[in-house]
Amino acid sequence: MNGRLPVVLPPVPGELFSSWIARHAAFYGVPSLTMLRHCLPEAVSLHIADRTLSRDQAGRLAEMFSMDAKTVRQMTFANLQRTAHRFISKEPIQRCASCKSGTSDPGPILRCDLQGWRITCPHCSRPFQDSAQCDRGRPFDQYHAAALRGEKLLNDDAERDIQTWTSPLELARLLLMRRVPWPLPRDAELWRYRVLGVVITDLDDVIAREGSFPPSPKHPIVPLHIRPALLAGVAIVERVGPEMLQMLQAHTFGHNRNRFVAETDHLVNPAFGLPGPRQMQLI
Ligand SMILES: [Zn+2]
Repeated sequence: MNGRLPVVLPPVPGELFSSWIARHAAFYGVPSLTMLRHCLPEAVSLHIADRTLSRDQAGRLAEMFSMDAKTVRQMTFANLQRTAHRFISKEPIQRCASCKSGTSDPGPILRCDLQGWRITCPHCSRPFQDSAQCDRGRPFDQYHAAALRGEKLLNDDAERDIQTWTSPLELARLLLMRRVPWPLPRDAELWRYRVLGVVITDLDDVIAREGSFPPSPKHPIVPLHIRPALLAGVAIVERVGPEMLQMLQAHTFGHNRNRFVAETDHLVNPAFGLPGPRQMQLI
């Protein structure tokens, strides 16, 4: 369908594209997907549009909503590099109490509510709260300064494609790989030991108390109260340099070691004046 919409609701700062469409849907009294398909008949879902909205689609939407295409596309995650998409949650996982105070309903969803690398609100810099509103303490408060450094590194990588000697997002994934602790623990619960625990030594105990730790390199969104540990770990490894990755390689074993070495050798070897990646052997 063509034609400009008679009433357009301005996006709130940082609003997520699907939230903005949903508010129009509520205003016009139609389902959200119907609202989106009114503008983009080929749209499959709001979730997919949030991640893949093309320039052409943004241009068509901009025409109907009487605004510029860049503003429309900036509400999505379509510009993010591939690794960053793993850190985008399907649902809001955090909220800023300051930016959303005064309303009983959830209000507009912001892009930052879904960003799994953030611990602070980009609009007011205050700490995020868990969207489930459960207080699980702040076990990594002592790493706060390093965590803020890590948050900036990851945000620059995800949103601005700015990297240092490596991709901080890739570093975060590497730190979530499994490691083998030595000496071997008596409980033999090897699932809970991550490479990150070598850098942030309090991590093993916190995870042991939690009883589970689902995040992995494939699903790297860490719960908000544990996320400072991951961000601080990234900041520390980034500051020390590739030499630290070589030390971390020694804490991995078997299939995990092969994967870790394969993903880090191209960074480690130049730091030691060695040629490129070595031939892998199954251990
Ligand atoms: Zn805020």
